[in-house]
Amino acid sequence: MLYRTVPKTGDRLSILGFGYMRLPSGKGGTGIDEERAIRQLRSAIDRGVNYVDTAPAYHLGKSERILGRALEDGYRDRVRIATKLPPWSVRCREDMDRILDGQLAALKTDHIDYYLLHSLQPESFLRLKNLGVLEFLDTAKKDGRIVNAGFSTHTTLPAFREIVDAYDWTFCQIQYNYLDEQNQAGTEGLRYAHEKNLAVMVMEPLRGGNLGGRVPDEIQAIWDGAGVKRSPAAWGLRWVWNHPEVTVVLSGMNDEAHIDENLKTADEGYPGSLTPGELSRIGQVREVYRRLMKVGCTGCSYCMPCPAGVDIPGCFSLYNDHYLFPHNRMAKFQYFGRHGGLMGGISYAGLCRRCGKCEKACPQHLPVRALLSDVSRELEPGMRFVIPVLKGGLWCMDQAATIRRFISPRR
Ligand code: SF4
Ligand code: SF4
Repeated sequence: MLYRTVPKTGDRLSILGFGYMRLPSGKGGTGIDEERAIRQLRSAIDRGVNYVDTAPAYHLGKSERILGRALEDGYRDRVRIATKLPPWSVRCREDMDRILDGQLAALKTDHIDYYLLHSLQPESFLRLKNLGVLEFLDTAKKDGRIVNAGFSTHTTLPAFREIVDAYDWTFCQIQYNYLDEQNQAGTEGLRYAHEKNLAVMVMEPLRGGNLGGRVPDEIQAIWDGAGVKRSPAAWGLRWVWNHPEVTVVLSGMNDEAHIDENLKTADEGYPGSLTPGELSRIGQVREVYRRLMKVGCTGCSYCMPCPAGVDIPGCFSLYNDHYLFPHNRMAKFQYFGRHGGLMGGISYAGLCRRCGKCEKACPQHLPVRALLSDVSRELEPGMRFVIPVLKGGLWCMDQAATIRRFISPRR
């Protein structure tokens, strides 16, 4: 395993982080096979992984509890735990302490090594700041409940920069892969965070697994033509690790073969280790994916901000995923989460007031208004019904965690 250093602290983290968000299913494809999830994580730790990422939202709170069990028997001292404060569960300053204390109990630990504000958007960050979140982070660091403060986000580059500058973060977590160089924070955001001395944890290195596994034949043919044999997943991970600004790449692993392969790939994940020929091959694959995309949006954000609050590149990105990877039904739920208000502010395509400002700014000359109508028609039906139901589920989960904490024996 290779390790990279957190700039502000000198902490050495494995370049492969274990994402504890897609745990293996139990018998018959239902529930979670907890014993297998525990075995998988311990085996990865035994082979050098020392960073594991969870959140209350993963498996409706079960991920943190299973992680707490997995880290018994001496494993806790061998890893850094990353977990997150869910802004959508916070209604007052006291909620922040209540949620953090519940997480410490679930994880059976007295400190969180890397604590993130989850999936920040400008609106959710402003709301949290008004409720005192920066003072909360200062206090939790002082009393030792958290060690390092950071945030995760899928927001646009300008908003990302503002959040980076708003606090003395140790780290941030962004979506980054060879299709998202200009999407969300993108390469510019990665470099910006690095210049500000932040460690950068990368999520979605394979865009939700879509860049690995079975890929379109045209793309497989490009990979097959390379002198070196690598799986599509290995190409994708190597591309991210090739960036010296990246600290940890998170992979949501739940299959032993994938874990073995990712660990093997990580042994070669040196910065700057891909040759110009290999980078150009990845460029060819990128071009094919772009051609296959429904909307030719590059994610440049020149059209932003939209006066009606639409996250134009964000909506197009998930719309493209919806078509490019039809076997993966997650795009619609991700759309609800990021743009429909499930996890914070709303920025969905249907908010468009058709003013036309974005079309004047778009270097690709995209008919943005018409395209947003398509996105709205295809991804938004059911959203207004599903979101209150899901929000209700999150609220119940939150209350259940609090009740469990009060009836469980103290750690
Ligand atoms: S046309 Fe719609 S998406 Fe474009 S800037 Fe105006 S309101 Fe926003
Ligand atoms: S300006 Fe055009 S290409 Fe750039 S993000 Fe907006 S819609 Fe996409």
